[in-house]
Order: sequence, then structure tokens, then C-alpha cells
Amino acid sequence: MRKSYDNINNKFPTKDITPDDISNKIKLVSDKKRKKNIKIKNNLGFSNKSIPLICGPNGLESLKLGLSFAKFINKLNLNFMRVHIFKPLTFPYRSRQYSEAGINGIEWIKEIRKQFPSMILICEITELQHLEILSKNVDILQIGTRNMQNFELLRECSKSKMPLILKRHFGSSIRDLLGAAEHILLDGNDKLILCERGIVAPHTHRDTSRYMLDIQSIPAIKEITNLPIISDPSHASFWAPWVTPLAKASIAAGADGLIIESHPEPSKSKVDPLQPLNYNEFKKLLISLKKIAKADNRQII
Ligand code: PEP
Ligand code: MN
Repeated sequence: MRKSYDNINNKFPTKDITPDDISNKIKLVSDKKRKKNIKIKNNLGFSNKSIPLICGPNGLESLKLGLSFAKFINKLNLNFMRVHIFKPLTFPYRSRQYSEAGINGIEWIKEIRKQFPSMILICEITELQHLEILSKNVDILQIGTRNMQNFELLRECSKSKMPLILKRHFGSSIRDLLGAAEHILLDGNDKLILCERGIVAPHTHRDTSRYMLDIQSIPAIKEITNLPIISDPSHASFWAPWVTPLAKASIAAGADGLIIESHPEPSKSKVDPLQPLNYNEFKKLLISLKKIAKADNRQII
């Protein structure tokens, strides 16, 4: 049971954040005394100076793909890798070529960890029953857009004290996102990273682009909180040619990190084959991002 507070009311319900919200409803989130650094491993993490570039295929399709991707980014001196073995999909039907690794993928994650012990691994958690095993085998848990307000999942993930990435729901305001973040902070975990990943908009300028990256949310969120805010242009645009400009724009807008999907053969990606960058495109993007980060006195890690 949560305690009750006398100063909480819903007399002025709004879509956007009010001074009343800041003083009463997102007190922890909006506390600017909160330290900005979130260390994950080997002194690497989120800070004013460093920009983690989280990359990887959409899903961990095989051990072979995982190991070759880890090798690829290791050579580029990158450290943050997606190893998603659970993939919530809009429709319940799976094609013959697509199979989610599921819990068996833990063995692949263990092997990637064994061969690349300094790599920081990120995996989405979709069910409470996987919390324990994922916490033991990855470094950051991701709470996906569809679970942003799954408060029970938020609470248990918070209690695990694992670093968490909370993705903004594609239909939610930043008020809703910060409300969900407050749930996590209230349960005692402040290793929390927020993620903008695109929202529903009347026009997205291409029939294959389901969402629109809300770049404006980055400075808007920074106005209110010190929590890092990262950007995922891959899931927003669904369209590889737009990922590069949107990634650059995100860093220029002050994003504290990026999630970029990449795949050695994008057209063979088992999920969303239009959105991953191939290795050459990814390397080119990295060169540009380094320049943009440097201009801002920051560094891609
Ligand atoms: C993902 O990062 O793989 C993912 C499913 O993201 P989202 O929850 O933003 O759709
Ligand atoms: Mn996806």
C-alpha cells in the first residue's frame, strides 16, 4: 500500500505538465539536485560528457549474429549492445522465418558475455517471471513502449535495482512518461534512463513510417528532469534512410544517448527489415555522430 498525501488532487487535470504536477506529482523526477551520472559498468554510463550508442539487431536472432555483431562494435570501440530475446509484436501471428529466441536465448546472452565480458548488454523485459534471470545476465533492462504504464512491472523492475531504460509510449504525453518514471523512483531505483522512440502523429510522411520522432520532447524533458533522455530513431521512423539524419538531430538536440538498429543484412532481419542500418551505413553514422558530439564537448561511447 502506498501512503496518501493531502496535497494530491485532480482538480486541474491536464495533458501537459503544470507547476502543481512538479511540486506534488513528479517531485522525485523533477528534483534538479539529482545527480546526472548513471554508471553502468567499467566506469561507462550516461553523463553530461558521454553519449552511449546502444546498437544491435532488432532481436537476438541467433548466437552467430550476436557474436558477429559484438565483434563488429568491439572493433569500433562501442560498448552498448541490444540483445533482445523477447519481442512484443503488434499481431499475434509469426511468419515461418520469424521466431523469437525467448527464454532459450539466455544461453546465447551468456556466451556473448563470456566472449565479450566488458560489453554492456541491454534486453527488453516483458514479463515479471523473467526478471530474475535477466537481471543476472544483462546490464540494463528495457521497458518497452507497450509496457510504459505496466505499473507492476515498473515496481518490480525498480526494486531489482537494475539500471532501466523506460521507453515513452507512442501515444503518451511526457506528463504520462514522467509519471511512470516517478513510480520507478519512488520504489527506490534511480538508475533510470528515459527514451523517446516516436509517437503517433496524423502525418508521418511515408506510409511505412508508423511514428514520428518527437525531437522537441528532448529539450522539453530536460527542462523538467535531470534523468538522461535518449532517442531511438529506428523505432520511430521504421525507415533506414531517415535514421541517420534523425540520429544526428537527436544528439544536436541534447539527447544523452541513442538506440540504433543495425544488421549485417538488413533485408534479412527477422523483424522490421526496413529499419536497420547496414554495417557501412552504421560506420558512416558513427563518424558523423562523433563530430556532432565533439562540437558539444561530449563523446560517443
Ligand atoms: C525495441 O527496442 O526493440 C522495441 C520493441 O522498442 P519499442 O518498445 O519502442 O517499440
Ligand atoms: Mn521493434
